[in-house]
Amino acid sequence: MLLKLNNRFAVIGDPITHSLSPAMHSAAFKAAGIDANYEAQEVSPTALEDWVQRARHIPYAGFNVTIPHKERVGRYLDELDDSAQRVNAVNTVVNQGNALIGFNTDASGFVATLQSRDIDVRGRCVVVLGAGGSARAVVRGLADLGADIILCSRTLPKAEALAASLSISVTPMLASSTKAGEAVSAAHLVVNTTPLGMKHLPFSPLPPGTDLQPETTVVDLVYGPITALIRQGRVAGCVVIDGIEMLVQQGAAAFQLWTKVVPDVAIMRATCRQALREVHSCSAS
Ligand code: NAP
Repeated sequence: MLLKLNNRFAVIGDPITHSLSPAMHSAAFKAAGIDANYEAQEVSPTALEDWVQRARHIPYAGFNVTIPHKERVGRYLDELDDSAQRVNAVNTVVNQGNALIGFNTDASGFVATLQSRDIDVRGRCVVVLGAGGSARAVVRGLADLGADIILCSRTLPKAEALAASLSISVTPMLASSTKAGEAVSAAHLVVNTTPLGMKHLPFSPLPPGTDLQPETTVVDLVYGPITALIRQGRVAGCVVIDGIEMLVQQGAAAFQLWTKVVPDVAIMRATCRQALREVHSCSAS
């Protein structure tokens, strides 16, 4: 099957060189027999509006949106699907006859990630670190699953505003407080949605005084050869899940929105793992 009008796709963000989405989606297109091109585009916050207006006419058949644009890009689109409205953030855009429609596949991708490892959060305490675009999706997914959510942000008003705008009951905490460290130490699940752990920010997002327990599951949305948080989780004996599974799950849902074709997630996963190994061997040599 070939896409009819155009076959150009992209991921936009700043920074973007770390993104595995081009490799992952290119492999999925190839496996599905779709002739398409998926590229990474570095778009700064000041260039976002112009880029989106041009995307309509280039034209892109669709694009993904990543850090730091997920919360803001919606205002430049023509329509928001229910999935984006429920989260107030967009990570996937579909170009339907020059109308740009925003979707969110991060929330369903996050839930699928937990389900892939049989992690049950109903009535359990979950600490989410960070209060940006992906935190919105994670909090939405956790609320739908019935978790008790503590949201740790570097500014309290940001966490409070996120909870209020989603009409979800969460306990907001300052990420730099020892109270937040105590909450992580007692949590069933901790999820990092800050960029801490990315190559340019190789630090742990854990609050001061955290004493990770082996019963806690650790999910890092950041992916890299190994992040500081994943290393800390392993040392503490926790079950750890890095950002690849969420990348694959949200990417598979985006692929389906663009093409109406169910992608081969095993190929997407294997491509990401291979790309990470290559990054690792390059940085080690
Ligand atoms: P975002 O919208 O910019 O939000 C980032 C959040 O982290 C904000 O709450 C921000 O705080 C906080 N933050 C930023 N810099 C920080 C720092 N130096 N120390 C502590 N907190 C900091 O970004 P996003 O789209 O949510 O993405 C966040 C990370 O998740 C990125 O690394 C992204 O690649 C990753 N991600 C991965 C997947 C996946 O599929 N694996 C999916 C989504 C996101 P302020 O609000 O105070 O600025």
